[in-house]
Amino acid sequence: MATGQKLMRAVRVFEFGGPEVLKLQSNVAVPVPKGRQVLIKVHACGINPVETYIRSGTYSRKPALPFTPGTDVAGIIESVGESVSAFKAFVDLFQKGDRVFCSSTVSGGYAEFALAEDHTVYTLPETLDFRQGSALGIPYFTACRALFHSARVRAGESVLVHGASGGVGIATCQIARAHGLKVLGTAGSEEGKKLVLQNGAHEVFDHKEVNYIDKIKKSVGDEGVNVIIEMLSNVNLNNDLKLLSQGGRVIVVGSRGPIEINPRDTMAKETSIIGVSLFSSTKEEFQHFAGILQAGIEKGWVKPVIGSEYPLEKVVQAHEDIIHSSGKTGKMILLP
Ligand code: NAP
Repeated sequence: MATGQKLMRAVRVFEFGGPEVLKLQSNVAVPVPKGRQVLIKVHACGINPVETYIRSGTYSRKPALPFTPGTDVAGIIESVGESVSAFKAFVDLFQKGDRVFCSSTVSGGYAEFALAEDHTVYTLPETLDFRQGSALGIPYFTACRALFHSARVRAGESVLVHGASGGVGIATCQIARAHGLKVLGTAGSEEGKKLVLQNGAHEVFDHKEVNYIDKIKKSVGDEGVNVIIEMLSNVNLNNDLKLLSQGGRVIVVGSRGPIEINPRDTMAKETSIIGVSLFSSTKEEFQHFAGILQAGIEKGWVKPVIGSEYPLEKVVQAHEDIIHSSGKTGKMILLP
């Protein structure tokens, strides 16, 4: 390590495996921004289920070891690369002291500082705090992709957010409600149900209740529901196909295993099952979703709800909880 090199605390993964491979280290070099990169002093970082899949080595995208997990940083620009400085006089680029949030990082967000490419960084208005800023990245961009790109929703349609109490679910409810959809949501606890209703759902159901699917069927009637945004497809896809309207679509956001379905269930009503991959979005699509979200922040309908908070020291527990604890009440975040 070069003399004078600034050091920081950061979580490092040296081998793929269970949550115990997440190691908090206090002597990690603070990265230096190059070109159009920016260095962000992290005030909060969202924790997403995908970071557990990446950590375990089972995800399609495997980072080179060692690495620091985390993409959804909110914080303050500490310094900028030479191209950002050079062009700052001509275009409105980021500068030291700006409040920002990210949809991706270069060096990882579970750390005191994170490096990001400037096109994945967005201004964080004063109306949202850093905790809320760290809940925007993966959840809100995924919700936009699922609703607008995959389901191509139209105002007046109905949407069932199957798993509405977590990061992506709350985001989906807020965005769908603001765009004129009839919103139904599900949660697995009383507190979660209350939160779903407070964040855009017209009606809420308990996915832990034995007969909740019958209750949804009764609510949507013979017409069925136009769109289902599904967080746990390996459990729900078979039932979802029976809830859809003519031309209805199930959008597979989350799935943690296989499920048997009867393809015949798609035929009479000509329904579709469509997968979502946020990371397949192009730069332009990210900018489009960011535009929708910036408008929502300005108008006040994008208001991330923060659930459990963990200091960096508790990162192992956080990775256990995001997969195994039920009764979600918003977004789980890490505080450096
Ligand atoms: P999260 O914050 O952990 O929330 C999980 C949600 O699933 C909670 O609302 C939970 O409700 C609900 N759930 C639990 N049991 C359920 C059941 N039987 N039926 C329906 N929902 C149930 O996770 P997240 O960040 O919102 O992500 C949700 C899923 O989407 C994860 O699998 C994640 O990997 C995936 N995802 C995919 C993409 C993509 O690009 N495809 C992007 C982001 C996320 P209770 O806790 O109240 O029971």
